[in-house]
Amino acid sequence: MRKPSENYREIVIARNGGESEESPEKKSSKSPKGMNKAIHPPIETHWHLPQEKKPCSSPSSGFKSILKYPLKVRDSVKKIKRSRSMQLVLEGVHDPKDEQIVESFRELLFLEGGVLAQNYDYHTLLRFLRMTDFDLLKAKTMLSNYLQWRQDFGVDTIQKEFKFDELAEVKKRYPHGFHGVDKYGRPVYIERIGMVDMNELLQITTIERLVKNHIAEQEKTLSLRFPTCSIAAKKHIASTTSILDVKGVGMSNFSKPARHLFMEVLKIDSNYYPETLNKLFIINAGSGFRMLWKVVKAFLEARTLAKIQVLGNNYFCNLIEVIDPNNLPSFLGGNCTCADYGGCLLSDKGPWNNPEIIEMLQALSATEEISNEGNGDLTSEDALQEDVGSAKSKEDSRHGETLMINEHASQKILALQAAISDTKTKLKALEAALEDIKTVLEGLTQHVKELKT
Ligand SMILES: [Zn+2]
Repeated sequence: MRKPSENYREIVIARNGGESEESPEKKSSKSPKGMNKAIHPPIETHWHLPQEKKPCSSPSSGFKSILKYPLKVRDSVKKIKRSRSMQLVLEGVHDPKDEQIVESFRELLFLEGGVLAQNYDYHTLLRFLRMTDFDLLKAKTMLSNYLQWRQDFGVDTIQKEFKFDELAEVKKRYPHGFHGVDKYGRPVYIERIGMVDMNELLQITTIERLVKNHIAEQEKTLSLRFPTCSIAAKKHIASTTSILDVKGVGMSNFSKPARHLFMEVLKIDSNYYPETLNKLFIINAGSGFRMLWKVVKAFLEARTLAKIQVLGNNYFCNLIEVIDPNNLPSFLGGNCTCADYGGCLLSDKGPWNNPEIIEMLQALSATEEISNEGNGDLTSEDALQEDVGSAKSKEDSRHGETLMINEHASQKILALQAAISDTKTKLKALEAALEDIKTVLEGLTQHVKELKT
């Protein structure tokens, strides 16, 4: 544990808002509270976990359905139910409050016409909303910038076509990679930036290619790492825990290309992949790094800063609060060596490389497509009961939220009314302009007539 006598100050940090996944030792540990800011809890705890299903509401109904359906049908119903609950895990249970705001946001985007809001899923919209503290207009600007950037930078093409063949060589000079999951089930990303030799690195690749690789990895995290981690942890996972080892990093070796790369990546992550960082541990921070950090901090938003913990070389206790030592590489004091892969940062171990989980994810995506097409054909009593049950619990929870929803609904109505009145004004202006044109045309016709006579 850190001692009060250490002559540096920890740069924050709110402890995830003290939310659910705390381990017992975490609860007992104290963090400096002085400069804590009110920051949203991690995204997964904000999106509630699906409730544990009761095994069976009444024994007779269970028995009835067993008698009623032949074995094969029962199996497929089971499968569907399982996949439905897994889909719930992937999607997370939506908070009715958030749903209202996201819906208002969609309507705003639709009215603006510039952004095809329907192409964007609930969580993407919610991330942009959370990033801007639920300011609809700011969120709209950030989302438009994001879409423009995706187009300009060809993000979809990068994801599909970009091959980073030099990765193995790059990793020798710039050790980095994903490595397993934290105690909550989030992917862990580790970077040993202090070991980077920028000059040597730029002999085998370019800053542009490093940035492209970073984007490709971010896309992979969203589309593969989070969903597979969710399946493995049986709960909605949507953020990463990161460790940045800055041993030896200081003003002197933060060269121009290194600065350029760092700022570029920082810009991309904070503007275009908001709310995907759970926590960042910066470890082995010496006096050189702390000087540098004072400058870098100026570029970071309070929301991001609150997720960053800067530590010296006594970082181990802080890390094992959130990462099991068996999942922590030996070079960070843990027990893992990934000997079969030549080192922990080369293994890319995690649920995203587990063929069974990938298969489940693919099956779930396929099921989702089918159920979207046919809207499902569940006729079983069980399935119906499940629907009724969930509808009922939804209703109950909604009852408690009625006031809040009403407030959001009236906000939405106000926004719609404002948009309608704006459109009316524009229509009136157009009508007036038309009248003007008519008058001009009539004048011209008159003039032509006079010329003719
Ligand atoms: Zn390992």
